[in-house]
Amino acid sequence: MVLHYAGGGKEMREEHSPGRTPAPLDDCYYQVRLIQHRHMHPSPITGGERYWDIAYNYLICHHGYTFVGRGLASQPGANGSRYTNERYYAICGLIGSGDPKPTDVMLRETKAVMEWVRRYDQAGARVEGRHVKGHKDVDRDPPTQCPGSLYPYIGNGYFD
Ligand SMILES: [Zn+2]
Ligand SMILES: [Zn+2]
Repeated sequence: MVLHYAGGGKEMREEHSPGRTPAPLDDCYYQVRLIQHRHMHPSPITGGERYWDIAYNYLICHHGYTFVGRGLASQPGANGSRYTNERYYAICGLIGSGDPKPTDVMLRETKAVMEWVRRYDQAGARVEGRHVKGHKDVDRDPPTQCPGSLYPYIGNGYFD
């Protein structure tokens, strides 16, 4: 599995309101839809890939909830190359470089999702794909800071 973050700046959303329509702008649900939209409809200025769906398999917010992206049965598009997308699921923590450290519930939920993916994976992830790596470990061109403040938890074995 490859762990990602949501990017630079502040990405933690204050609200987590599943029942509200339209979702408040400062809401995790809105944020996930926005990420999906960006992945599917690249901007003419910044470019990007025209994915068929959000590029992550799962996304976890700091409130400790998981959003299903491509799920278990499809390869992701976020890992930087065809080689890595064929071998690793893409798990994204909804946190940015401008946010405080990941919350305990976010870390625990991320670990639980990883254990669940290891147990039930249907996309043929190979043995190396069962270990957790950071985006910056598998994709160095161009260099990335991803997954930001989640990265030390890979190094200390928290997710293993
Ligand atoms: Zn990433
Ligand atoms: Zn949330």
